[in-house]
Amino acid sequence: MYSKQVLEDNWKQILDQTRIDYNITTVSYNTWLVPLRIYDIEDNILTIVAEEPINSNSLSFIQNKYGQFIRASIVEMLGSEYEFELRFILRSQVARIEEERKKQSRPDTNLAHGNLLNKYTFDNFIVGDNNNMAHAAALAVAEQPGEVYNPLFIYGGSGLGKTHLMYAIANYILQNEPYRKVLYVTSETFTNDLITSIRAGGIAASEAFREKYRTNDILLIDDIQFIEGKETTQEEFFHTFNEMKDNGRQVVISSDKNPKDLKILDERLRSRFEWGLTVDVQPPSYETRVAILREKNKVNPVPIYDDVLEYIAQNINSNIRVLEGALTQVVSMSRLQRKPITLDLAREALKDVIAPSEKKTVTPELILNMVAEHYEITSEQIRSKIKSRNIAYPRQIAMYLCRELTSLSFDEIGSLIGGRDHSTVHYAYNKVSDDIKKDETVAGAVDILKKKINPTEN
Ligand code: ADP
Ligand code: MG
Repeated sequence: MYSKQVLEDNWKQILDQTRIDYNITTVSYNTWLVPLRIYDIEDNILTIVAEEPINSNSLSFIQNKYGQFIRASIVEMLGSEYEFELRFILRSQVARIEEERKKQSRPDTNLAHGNLLNKYTFDNFIVGDNNNMAHAAALAVAEQPGEVYNPLFIYGGSGLGKTHLMYAIANYILQNEPYRKVLYVTSETFTNDLITSIRAGGIAASEAFREKYRTNDILLIDDIQFIEGKETTQEEFFHTFNEMKDNGRQVVISSDKNPKDLKILDERLRSRFEWGLTVDVQPPSYETRVAILREKNKVNPVPIYDDVLEYIAQNINSNIRVLEGALTQVVSMSRLQRKPITLDLAREALKDVIAPSEKKTVTPELILNMVAEHYEITSEQIRSKIKSRNIAYPRQIAMYLCRELTSLSFDEIGSLIGGRDHSTVHYAYNKVSDDIKKDETVAGAVDILKKKINPTEN
């Protein structure tokens, strides 16, 4: 997942990009976007907090109007390899959310994210050729922490089961040896804690940090790649690791790349990573993908035929998180439409996931809505007979865009836009084409509208 740090560092630019790409006025920008801050990112949910004076009404307005745009800018600036959702909260809700999180974490085990504990186990981890080494090593470590492979270093692409395996280890140990002290953190938490302790200064703060990290029987650090470029964190981790290892405590590390390829300044730290055992997880084979889908369907089982599972497995092959998401999407469409899960329904539910390269179907309704929104009028006004320029010109733009972005004929467009004839649409098309060449404002507006209507095409 994107790191919180990276998001924060780029946040201003992300908002700025949104403003430019979607032609947001300075007033709107200052009112609706400037009060937004990154709150955190967890379990693929990026939470954005809105500062005062934003209230719950304006929050839902922001979410509906700007959510997708902000998301698009994040993807554009930081890359599109992650699946994530946006969630908006108010500053006034933060205290309650933190309270709830505290309740969910289990103070007796020191294991963060107590709520995920039961979700990821060895029992629901499907073993295939792609991950059997990693699975065997993880199980061995869980059975004899600190004794076999120390550290265990698991690496591989996003969504291939690294975090699942780490939780499975933690879970297994806590089941069998509940007195063990287990700590699971991401390397970002480690870094943040370190920064906090350095800022606080003094012996007490640094001892609290050491107490948290060096006294566990098992320390699991997820996504270690985020310590790249952070010298102090690397150094602290080096010492933490040495002390753990000297005391026979287990360290488990995951990363999206092989330790050889991590950018680390101190060669001694890299060599520590390679002291124990390094295993990788690869994308699963077709059979394993089908087995994973069957396993996922056990959680909240629904009747689903093999051909549907096979269809999903055939078409999604690189990332298990996406595979799982596809199944969820099919199941929720069947719930919403109250229809059984058939192959046709699955095709319909997954048309954007499975064939993202195919053009999204741009409908005239979508075009009219976008044009109306852009010019702050309604789509009824566009279809109406009103002749005033503030309506008539957007109407011509809508005609132009229908012609450009769909395969409809002039006749068809005319009848969709208030029953106008072929020549009216033809005229509008030529006029707007000319204006685009002559008038920068028109060119800019058309460009923005095209982006809004079909963001993937631009
Ligand atoms: P990573 O940490 O490598 O990005 P995760 O461990 O978060 O990936 O896995 C993403 C999703 O895929 C999780 O819901 C996880 O349960 C599921 N998953 C990954 N590998 C397997 C597997 N072998 N069996 C069952 N589920 C898996
Ligand atoms: Mg992970």
